[in-house]
Amino acid sequence: MGGVFRDLEDGVIKRGFCLGCGACVAACPVQCLSLQDGTPTLQGKCINCGVCYEECLHTAGFDRVGKQWKVEMTDPDLGPYLSIHIAESPEKAVKERAQDGGAVTAMLKTLLEYEYVDGAIVTGVGAKPLQPEGKVVTTPDEVEEYAGSKYCRGPLFTAVREAVKHYGRSRLALVGLPCQIATLRRIQTSNPTNRQLAESVKLAIGLFCEGAFQYRFFREVVEGQARIPLAEVERVEVSGDKVIVYRMQKPPREIALAIAKKYIDLACRVCTDFSAVLADISVGAAGSPKGKSTVIIRTNAGADAFNFVARMNGIKTKPLEVGSGGIEEIRKASQRKKDGAKRTLERLRASKQPVPLWAES
Ligand SMILES: Cc1cc2nc3c(=O)[nH]c(=O)nc-3n(C[C@H](O)[C@H](O)[C@H](O)COP(=O)(O)OP(=O)(O)OC[C@H]3O[C@@H](n4cnc5c(N)ncnc54)[C@H](O)[C@@H]3O)c2cc1C
Ligand code: SF4
Ligand code: SF4
Ligand code: SF4
Repeated sequence: MGGVFRDLEDGVIKRGFCLGCGACVAACPVQCLSLQDGTPTLQGKCINCGVCYEECLHTAGFDRVGKQWKVEMTDPDLGPYLSIHIAESPEKAVKERAQDGGAVTAMLKTLLEYEYVDGAIVTGVGAKPLQPEGKVVTTPDEVEEYAGSKYCRGPLFTAVREAVKHYGRSRLALVGLPCQIATLRRIQTSNPTNRQLAESVKLAIGLFCEGAFQYRFFREVVEGQARIPLAEVERVEVSGDKVIVYRMQKPPREIALAIAKKYIDLACRVCTDFSAVLADISVGAAGSPKGKSTVIIRTNAGADAFNFVARMNGIKTKPLEVGSGGIEEIRKASQRKKDGAKRTLERLRASKQPVPLWAES
């Protein structure tokens, strides 16, 4: 059943499942929505066309979007794949800026350098320090600037709109969290939808994800309790049971991951996708030694792009053998995430709190 913006508000936003992804805002044909503190808000006259409702992941859910995208889950934990690699950038400068092996940045740099794509959507920092926001990049140098993980969710699809409307791009690569890749597939399979946005993304690169922190974590814990001014933070890394905060010209500080986990919101707690199973290529730390990236090639489009980058010597890569400890690590993370989501839904139902629309029986 379709709906309009009021239904999106009631069914997703007010229930606490909005991802702040900006898909509804970007797709609205009359541009009557904007993100206010990360929440889609009506700013003008809505014509009740229903596009925003049909773009939202949480009006459908991961499983339905997967079926509509016609993906066969050949492996229930890893998702569909053609090959799996341990990879890293051949450039020292990229590895220094990147989160793990710099595989994402390495791929995007080569794809842009040889005009395999005409732009890329990545995530940089917005108006506030450490607050993520989608960015349009068109040159290899710009890609490098945005390397590294920002540990909150931010709006991504407003940048897709900007790439199409302002930069006239039509062959984009997009890097996103599993929820953002699933949203992309939702946009690409929905009707009604914003066709121009849907057709502009040719390559989807997904990141592994066990959860993002709410921005409040940085304000209340990093700045408030640990007394680290956010403007001083160079980058953040989750490693084992610690969140490591790297500061400019000062030694890094550690915060217990258990504290940060209290800042994972409901939208993440019902999320079932660890490895971005609907992407063309998925990349994460799990499965590879420190300083390297695991790269899962899932589709022919992903294989063509990855092979092109490797042929141009844009990435160093070796196979990650199926059955190895690395693969088991990915399987376990994937199972952990699905089990966690199941428990959250059971808890919500037991306490008579709202569940996502897709989980209503
Ligand atoms: C919130 C979050 C949670 C994660 N959780 C896990 C995990 O549990 N296990 C695991 O193995 N890996 C996890 N990752 C992935 C990991 O941190 C690296 O992003 C991944 O290994 C790629 O590393 P790289 O060196 O190849 O990427 P880089 O070359 O450093 O490039 C990183 C790319 O990620 C994009 N990016 C950064 N932050 C965000 C964001 N908030 N939203 C969308 N895109 C973003 C940037 O646009 C950049 O292009 C997580 C990433 C994020 C952002
Ligand atoms: S005009 Fe359409 S897309 Fe925009 S808010 Fe209204 S229903 Fe949603
Ligand atoms: S499309 Fe994204 S921003 Fe809009 S309501 Fe859905 S989750 Fe929130
Ligand atoms: S846990 Fe799911 S909803 Fe949360 S940021 Fe990761 S992919 Fe998105």
